[in-house]
Amino acid sequence: MPRPIQATIHPQALRHNLNRVRLAAPDAQVWAVVKANAYGHGIEHVFEGLRGADGFALLDLSEAQRVRALGWRGPILLLEGAFEARDLELCSRLNLWHTVHCDEQIDMLALHKTHEPHRIFLKMNSGMNRLGFAPQRFRSAWTRLNALPQVDEISLMTHFSDADGPKGIAAQMALFEEATRDLPGERSLSNSAAALRHAQDGAVKADWIRPGIAVYGSSPDFPENNASDWHLQPVMSLNAQVIAVQSLQAGDSVGYGSSFVADGAMRIGVVACGYADGYPRICPTGTPVLVNGQRGRTVGRVSMDMLTVDLSPFPDAGVGSTVTLWGRSVSGPVLSIDEVAQKAGTVGYELMCALAPRVPVVVAD
Ligand SMILES: *Cc1c(COP(=O)(O)O)cnc(C)c1O
Repeated sequence: MPRPIQATIHPQALRHNLNRVRLAAPDAQVWAVVKANAYGHGIEHVFEGLRGADGFALLDLSEAQRVRALGWRGPILLLEGAFEARDLELCSRLNLWHTVHCDEQIDMLALHKTHEPHRIFLKMNSGMNRLGFAPQRFRSAWTRLNALPQVDEISLMTHFSDADGPKGIAAQMALFEEATRDLPGERSLSNSAAALRHAQDGAVKADWIRPGIAVYGSSPDFPENNASDWHLQPVMSLNAQVIAVQSLQAGDSVGYGSSFVADGAMRIGVVACGYADGYPRICPTGTPVLVNGQRGRTVGRVSMDMLTVDLSPFPDAGVGSTVTLWGRSVSGPVLSIDEVAQKAGTVGYELMCALAPRVPVVVAD
């Protein structure tokens, strides 16, 4: 028997979440962002659930090839564009749309031989200071690109640094609008946080939104809003079983470093999930879990292959009981990945992306 741990992907939740973000931006087209192997879910596992998207956005060329291999003929956008000149050959061959964010990428395009001109998303750095042309350099980049025979339509994009927080998007929006006012082309601005939090902002709805995290059912602005506040459903559930039970007396400890010491008699369940499965080692005693669908807590240190939970409140639980680390339990109740991430001092994104290759993944019906 394989180790009793499994991640389940819920295509129904993907469809639901995609509809949810469409409601926020009803006139926009939707790039389903599937970079990082679909935020750890597996591109092949999410593809059916996300077929309703208008396109797939990602950044590894090998992932673009995988999406084409699944039979997708619609738009694919490379969010970071070409890393070297030969990447453009694959763009031509697979009809990939790509971002252009620096002069070097324009140089590569100018030297590229292609029969079919490329669809470009020209990126502005409106304040994030990672990728893109400064606003005052944007127009000249556009003019240079537009003059190339290798270039078809040019869309205009930027990325917000604070769509999830109090600083918001107004300053970046203003810079973007000012610098692009009389340039033609579609616009693409919003990630999940912008699409959900700034849905009333007309310009945010423009043309193409780029939701990632919301599609996977995690909140872009937890703890201000949780996933259910946004009516999002978890797409990844991580469930494992209790493989052993220990009975402790007052003063007994659990696990490495004896970091948890019982102050009275208690039952401990040893669960087949550890940091080598992607569960954060840093999660402290008290991190929430679901035991047979009921809310419980971890105790002691997470080890490589196991973690320990308090079974005292669950007299019926024992070896073989299911413990939900995040997502949906078999019986229905949900434990938000965002809550677990918060205990680990991080965000749901990181936990999903870190799901280890050794965890078997099944796609639910
Ligand atoms: C990852 C990414 C997104 C998606 O962001 P979420 O916060 O997951 O919605 C959108 N745009 C770009 C450029 C990205 O790199």
